[in-house]
Order: sequence, then structure tokens, then C-alpha cells
Amino acid sequence: MTNDVSRLLADPYETPARDRAATMAALQGHIFSCARCVRAGALEVARPITRGKGSVDARMLVVGQAPGATGHLHDKPFSGMAGRTLNLWFQRAGLPPWAHHDPALAFVTAITRCFPGKANGGRGADGRQTGGKGDRMPSGSEILLCQPYLEAEFALVCPEVVVILGRLAATRLIGPEPLGELIGTVRQVERAGRSIPAVTLPHPSGISRWLNLPANRDRHDIALRQLGEILGTLPSDPPVPADGMKPSAVAD
Ligand code: SF4
Repeated sequence: MTNDVSRLLADPYETPARDRAATMAALQGHIFSCARCVRAGALEVARPITRGKGSVDARMLVVGQAPGATGHLHDKPFSGMAGRTLNLWFQRAGLPPWAHHDPALAFVTAITRCFPGKANGGRGADGRQTGGKGDRMPSGSEILLCQPYLEAEFALVCPEVVVILGRLAATRLIGPEPLGELIGTVRQVERAGRSIPAVTLPHPSGISRWLNLPANRDRHDIALRQLGEILGTLPSDPPVPADGMKPSAVAD
């Protein structure tokens, strides 16, 4: 481990990273060989993904829950069904297709970096019962052991907005509020001496049932609009002529 990474992990908010990109590369290399959860008895197998594929100058820091079963096989995060859903959501915010795979736009990370295993009649990414079909939510030990990596990434990336995906990430970054109160309101995440606007979305995995309610779909629309407004990616209204009247589609 380089000295920069050791210092960053020991105290992410006090150690200025001299070269953020180089330190990030070293940090991701360190995460890739991490087996802390196995040593602590919290996981049987550790196959960390290094979700820091984005640039340290990315406009969005996107924080998910944990990788899926095949996350370590993909070069890019959110490549499967959840990624296709996220792609559609981001386009509704005015972003170009596959914005979360564009390193200049998104640095995609997660609360924990190893697949936690399947749920056993437990809860999926949105915190609801899955009937055993979803992934297990990472345990408190896994979250605690992995936390320094996320804090270090917050210290290295300077995003314009944090995009929080799902209840677990929202609880860790904002607090234990219901998704219905968070989604559609812009909050602030205080990290590394900065206050960064945060937009919360439901988790894009197919397991989430949150969007089944029409009122929740309205909140989701508002959240995507807020994201587009923060990034300035929404199409602007047609120009208002000098007389203050909107142009008419039909000539008189
Ligand atoms: S979940 Fe995080 S702390 Fe645990 S083994 Fe994987 S990379 Fe290491």
C-alpha cells in the first residue's frame, strides 16, 4: 500500500491527496486485493470489484449498495438489467445514453465491494422482502469494514452531485429516513469538508417495488428533474420573445 493510500484510509478528511488520480488508482488496487471481511468471518469469499472506474473529476458520484453475483466479472458497473434501468432514468434527467459508464460524467461506487450472497427470504436492495430472490443486504460488519474505502473516494472525487441508489446507501449517507421522504428532495451530504447536493433514487434492481405506487413515481420524476437541474442537462424552454409571449405553434 502506498503511503498516500495508508494515510487516506487512516484519516480521509485530514490528508490532502497530492495527486488525486494517482492516489485513486492506488486505492482501487488496494481494494482489489482486500479480504478484510473474510478475515473477520463476515464473508466466506471476497471478490472485490473496484468500482472506481470513473474519473476523480466526474460530475456525479453514484453510490449503490453492493455488487451483484457477477459484478466482479464485468469491467463496468451496472452493466446488467439494473444498469439498463439506470440508463433510462439518467436519460430522463437529460444525460446522454449510458452516462454511468462515461468516466467524465460518473464515478460509480458502492457501500460494500463484494457480493454479499443471496438473501434467504430476506430483503433486497430497496429494503423490502424478496422471498429469497434478491441479494442479501450487506451486514453491519461488512459495511463497517468497507466504509474507509468509500470515505477515501469522497475525499478524492469532487462531484457536483451525489446520486444515492436505494435505502441502504441513503441510510448510510443521509440517515434512516423513509425513501418516500428522501426521493424528490435535494439533501446535502457532508464529506471531506464539503457539502455536496444529493439526489436519492430507488435502487434500479428489478427487485424494487417502490415505483409501483403512482405517488412514488411522481416523486421519482421530481428527483430526476432535480438531478437534471443540478447538472444543467435538461433541455431549456423555447426562448421567450421580446414581447414576453411564448411563441405560438400555429401562425395567426
Ligand atoms: S466488502 Fe469491502 S472490506 Fe469486505 S472484503 Fe470486500 S472490499 Fe474488503
